[in-house]
Amino acid sequence: MPQETTARLFFALWPDDAVRAALARLARSLHQECAGRMIPAHNIHLTLVFLGNVANGRIPDLRALAAAIAAPSFDLIVDALDYWRHNRIVWAGTAECPEALRKLVAQLTHGLRTAGFRCEDRQYAPHITLLRAARRAPAVQATGGILWRAGDFVLMQSLRRNGAVAYEAIGRWPLGAALQDVLRRPMPMV
Ligand code: ATP
Ligand code: MG
Repeated sequence: MPQETTARLFFALWPDDAVRAALARLARSLHQECAGRMIPAHNIHLTLVFLGNVANGRIPDLRALAAAIAAPSFDLIVDALDYWRHNRIVWAGTAECPEALRKLVAQLTHGLRTAGFRCEDRQYAPHITLLRAARRAPAVQATGGILWRAGDFVLMQSLRRNGAVAYEAIGRWPLGAALQDVLRRPMPMV
């Protein structure tokens, strides 16, 4: 069989087990209220930049530019809920997008454009899709905050398997401590 020549790719934050479990619990309670289809726990994520179809030969360029990102780790507080009528998605987000998240997306977008990739111009709207084809919007737009400590980011491939979406990690890169944080730490006594 001929090899696929392109891959459908996106950069994302992937939750750890505890955050994934909390988001899956939230998805279950929203499902009771809004119906529709729940995103399976193992697929829950936050997209940073969606790339779409990319030639497989360009994946090394994506790895290189991801490895060159020097951005701090940060905390994301998932405390907002919303519903998009046009595609009937119920999603969780954040009342206040952390500056570090905005900057990470901006760095990635800049690196991608410089390397000749096309990416969206729209203002970044962080959203974690929890339900698709929802019948109604959630009654409340806030939720008890889930603390998501973002310590790395991933490059994912989106595949179709037996009619369902499946995501596979292609690479993972750490987010580091900000220089200011390092400088603020107390000096060890010698
Ligand atoms: P499916 O489309 O198969 O129902 P999906 O939307 O999760 O599932 P993809 O379409 O491959 O899978 O999308 C991968 C990720 O990128 C998802 O988080 C999706 O919301 C996001 N995404 C997809 N298309 C775009 C786009 N045009 N702009 C921004 N983000 C997108
Ligand atoms: Mg899609």
